[in-house]
Amino acid sequence: MHELSIAMALVDDVARALETENAISSVTTVRVRIGKLSGVDAEALKQAFPIAAENTCCNAAQLAITEIETQATCNACGAEFMPEFAFCICTACNSTDVAITGGRELLLESIELNDTEQSDTIPAKGGQGSPDQGCPDSQPKEG
Ligand SMILES: [Zn+2]
Repeated sequence: MHELSIAMALVDDVARALETENAISSVTTVRVRIGKLSGVDAEALKQAFPIAAENTCCNAAQLAITEIETQATCNACGAEFMPEFAFCICTACNSTDVAITGGRELLLESIELNDTEQSDTIPAKGGQGSPDQGCPDSQPKEG
């Protein structure tokens, strides 16, 4: 599952990007662009992201993925089209001399922060003892 290492690299990138900001608030959304030829499974990446984001500034962040269609330009006639695969022929002249011009991207597009910093939440008064929290350590099963 190499999507997990991609997700971790992504979280790393976000953390590094935020170091230049003066105040690190919590990240709400991380937007990425993934080309269809990048070999990254968007669904798998979405599932891996919360695991990679644990105990980081992306802890509560959502991953928003924009998938980018494969784009190709024909070297013979100059036509531009969106092939399904990297190996393709021109839809206009059937030439195989086709250059893939897009679809391999894996980009961190933007980071959205929770900038509603003025939280004036006043703790409720008069608590009578804390409730016993005996939460079983349940985790969603997979497989
Ligand atoms: Zn062509």
